[in-house]
Amino acid sequence: MVDTICAISSATGEAGIGIVRMSGPLSIEIAEKIFRSKRNISLTDIKNRFLSYGHIVDGNRVIDEVLIVKMLKPYTYTREDLVEIYCHGGIISVRKILNLIIDKGARLAEKGEFTKRAFLNGRLDLSQAEAVIDLIKAKTDSSYEQSVKQLEGRLTGLISLIREKIMAMISLIVANIDFPEDEIVEAQYESLLEDAFEVKDDLFKLISGSDRGRLIRDGINTVILGKPNVGKSSLLNAMLKYERAIVTDIPGTTRDIIEDYINLDGILLKITDTAGIRETDDKVEQIGVERAKKSIEDADLIIALLDPSQPFNDDDREIIKLLDNKKALILLNKSDLKRKVSDEEIKDLLKDKKYMSVSILDGSIEEIENKIVEMFFQGQIVGKEDFYVNNLRHVRALKGAYSSMESVIDGIKRQEFLDLIEVDLRQALNELGLITGETSTEDILDKVFKEFCIGK
Ligand code: GDP
Repeated sequence: MVDTICAISSATGEAGIGIVRMSGPLSIEIAEKIFRSKRNISLTDIKNRFLSYGHIVDGNRVIDEVLIVKMLKPYTYTREDLVEIYCHGGIISVRKILNLIIDKGARLAEKGEFTKRAFLNGRLDLSQAEAVIDLIKAKTDSSYEQSVKQLEGRLTGLISLIREKIMAMISLIVANIDFPEDEIVEAQYESLLEDAFEVKDDLFKLISGSDRGRLIRDGINTVILGKPNVGKSSLLNAMLKYERAIVTDIPGTTRDIIEDYINLDGILLKITDTAGIRETDDKVEQIGVERAKKSIEDADLIIALLDPSQPFNDDDREIIKLLDNKKALILLNKSDLKRKVSDEEIKDLLKDKKYMSVSILDGSIEEIENKIVEMFFQGQIVGKEDFYVNNLRHVRALKGAYSSMESVIDGIKRQEFLDLIEVDLRQALNELGLITGETSTEDILDKVFKEFCIGK
């Protein structure tokens, strides 16, 4: 028999309500043992999906006053019998109820196990399950909207269209292998080639949108560079202050996450090098060119700060050198002060690189933020209807399928045996199946669900 699992599904900490959830064949039976309804009706007799008021009890001892709901399979999140208990928030009550449930025969759920069951029982495909975690972790409206679309099955739909096209090609091939009439085959090669190009095109479109998708989901990996005293901390603090003003009225938002992420009008900046935030008072901090080099390897954006109110030096030159072939925003800060470098010196340092003159202290923040938005999304973040593949695992599978389709096209052009072409087509199908989970291995599932929190 499948285990019955349980977990605290609400966030830890003080809160109005805490939720304990149970899923599996023993859920109702266990809940029955620990719940006393106010009106003395047994849980079995309480209607499906109706909230009921009462107490959780351990023998004669009352643990908490609760609302409880049973949801009978198959129309539940996990497709199994499910019970949810709404008790008082905080740490103790939920834990006591959880322990009691474990005593009665359930086991603590692993990370993401409820959603994993939803997947294994066919309620969601793997990409939808991944959307659940993205939805929980979303930090901007656009990343949230992208995950809602993925959860609704947008990606599933796109993938299944492509799979159908490949399947149709395979049927054609199978039919031709059975009736190997030369002239039919000749004509079919042409039609296969057309279909193969179409599939490759579809895949290309999905892959090429994925950079944008990743930026929306994970944020723009940003590194701020500049020698000491040019205004790095001032820039960070100014952007963070703006962010804090927005998020402080959202209850339950944790500070430490915010400090790594800045939400610019719906665009997420992920500041990877937060040294600037933590060492605001450390004026002797050296640039550490080596460290800088390392952090910019994975950067999507480098913000390089210069201070032309002081003469440029070798540190500045080193930094500018690091920007070659990188997406960079060069800021000449402190424009409110008198310049100590000439136009020639600027040109000599920056060559043809574009820059912006700003004063971080004197109100340039908005202008800087607008520039970043423009650099990445041409000023427009995401259309309401747009959907972008945003998950690295999906992109990898799409690229795998793409390269199989290249082999298919190659094979058709060389009029290879049809069954060889079929092998590549099946490989493409296989890759696409990794996205939806049809061809996923236990390994992949483990990795995906490890990302979840317990209780989801
Ligand atoms: P960091 O060492 O690069 O992090 O630089 P800080 O952000 O600590 O700034 C160094 C000094 O420059 C501080 O005294 C800031 O107040 C000052 N500063 C930063 N931006 C500006 C600016 O736009 N104008 C002027 N006048 N001073 C600035």
